Amino acid sequence: MQKLPIVNDLGFYEIRMASIGGFGANVAGKILGEAGILKLGYNGSNFSSYGSEKKGSPVAAFVRFCAPDVAVRVNSPVTEPHLLVIFLESIARNPGMLSGVGPDTIVILNTGMDVDAARDFLGLAAGTLVVIDAMKIAVEEKTRVNTALLGVISQVTGFITHDAVKEIIEETFGKKYAATVPANIKTFERGTKEFTMKKFAPDGKYQPQAFSRAGQKLGYLNQPIGGVIPAAGTSMYKDLTASRSGYIPVLNRGKCTSCGECDITCPDYCFEWAGETNKKGKQEQVLQRIHYQYCKGCLRCVEMCKFEALTTHVEYEVDKHIIEKGYVNDIKETQK
Ligand code: SF4
Ligand code: SF4
Repeated sequence: MQKLPIVNDLGFYEIRMASIGGFGANVAGKILGEAGILKLGYNGSNFSSYGSEKKGSPVAAFVRFCAPDVAVRVNSPVTEPHLLVIFLESIARNPGMLSGVGPDTIVILNTGMDVDAARDFLGLAAGTLVVIDAMKIAVEEKTRVNTALLGVISQVTGFITHDAVKEIIEETFGKKYAATVPANIKTFERGTKEFTMKKFAPDGKYQPQAFSRAGQKLGYLNQPIGGVIPAAGTSMYKDLTASRSGYIPVLNRGKCTSCGECDITCPDYCFEWAGETNKKGKQEQVLQRIHYQYCKGCLRCVEMCKFEALTTHVEYEVDKHIIEKGYVNDIKETQK
């Protein structure tokens, strides 16, 4: 067993993974934990934190490794990671994403940007930045980004080995989804090669973000009388764009009969309707478009539409103007 390359005061090498539901961060954390403990002989722990088990909600996975003679008595979230893995570019600038990142941290970002552009995008003060277009790999291999990112991790930490992670991937997916093992291994192997890494010294271009815990906003001293909520929440501003895993439904209005089946299937109310006068002079509701801000790419609507007016497309192959418009009149419009 190799010595851990770096540890904190308590003797731990700490990993934080930031993602949203549907991208496999929880599974990736478990695979890493098992690879380190069961295959490589370290002591350690892993756990995830997430809200409702729903595609699109924030997920954080934490892994700790220590020498076998160190007792694991810390179960709190990782605040100063030695390895930070950001599963999606779209969440990379969320507040606190880089908190606790220092010059010794390795940051892995799933993005199509080059490493210098990614540093500016993140505002990374210092550290080793690794970029990989894991979403592109996942779309091409019909898998998820997690195994591509595990491939990168097996190359950059210096102690988590390729073979250990590969064995655990085979065991984990083999138990329940044996048919997906070859594609996941291919994704993993591509992850081990298709990344770029660069170390940035602290040059003053950006300021490091120290970890801070948000204080309690409401308490017995300042809560409204009677527990009234004066500013009720609204889902109007929610943006589920980041939840999509590379695929979107496209509405072909040329085939749509406005039967409404997709609308009652969609869990996020993405379909926009308007009253129109039909040939008989009667008012009827006609499906206008998909509002992609609210679409998380679950593709249930595509399965439901029996008129083939909804079809699945790779998101980065669809023109941006079609996503803004929300529909096509002929599916040929989506072909560049
Ligand atoms: S299910 Fe298909 S045909 Fe019916 S309204 Fe939706 S897109 Fe149109
Ligand atoms: S893929 Fe279809 S059903 Fe799923 S959120 Fe988007 S519009 Fe709604």
